[in-house]
Amino acid sequence: MAAPPPFQPPPHPPRAAAATRPAGNGGVVRCGVCGTESRQPAFRPPPPEQAPDLDLRPGEPVRGTMALWLQQCPHCGYAAPDIGRAHPGAAAAVAAAPFRALLAETAYPLLARRFLAWAHVLEETGALHAAAEATLQAAWVADDLNRPDLARLWRREAVALWRAGPPLDPEQTVRVVDALRRAEAWEDALATAEALARSRPPEPVAQVIGLERRLVEARDSGRHTVASALPPPARRPHVAHGPRPPAGASGFDLRGLLGRLRRLFGRG
Ligand SMILES: [Zn+2]
Repeated sequence: MAAPPPFQPPPHPPRAAAATRPAGNGGVVRCGVCGTESRQPAFRPPPPEQAPDLDLRPGEPVRGTMALWLQQCPHCGYAAPDIGRAHPGAAAAVAAAPFRALLAETAYPLLARRFLAWAHVLEETGALHAAAEATLQAAWVADDLNRPDLARLWRREAVALWRAGPPLDPEQTVRVVDALRRAEAWEDALATAEALARSRPPEPVAQVIGLERRLVEARDSGRHTVASALPPPARRPHVAHGPRPPAGASGFDLRGLLGRLRRLFGRG
């Protein structure tokens, strides 16, 4: 039996589908909504090597593979990391008018529509945070296609979905701040960042939120990586005099962020 793949495309929940990817049938998948069989790419994303963005969009080489993160049924349009699996409520969502209208919305880039289609099914089946994640991914597609209008719209929608779901932990709240900043929702971004700072978050979160506040004050809506939040080398204690830094992290505790990335990729 083949070992489970090391990663699944986001936003698959942990433990889901890790070993259910069809194997040995030429990549043919039977749609979990309508039953149509189609050939789908079996995607095995490589581990990210570059630092992720502040919203945890992975660095390369994963970054450039978004076209492979989701499968889409050519018959009913259902989109998911594995269309062979579907929530019991997915069929009703896919058949309903809003989903059909979304698929036909030619003003949206085709790949973005695929992520929004998955987000719609997640939202309709109550997975609001996963829906936020998929909507943010649509914004990443808009970033790549130089559509800042759509990127801002979908970041704001992602924030609304995050806030509509269960309470967010500090790491996720940083991503809300980043989405608000990149959507140029300056006041909301600053208020959210200040509330998080007052809650005395863990040090890595505090460092990232400090960077976010500086960027918001500078009205900088651009892309920055978590590496930007690292303290400069000169300010770090010499390794001989301080506690040993975590391997590969240069004194910055990336474990939380890496854990988040693993969850983002469904490795749990
Ligand atoms: Zn289908």
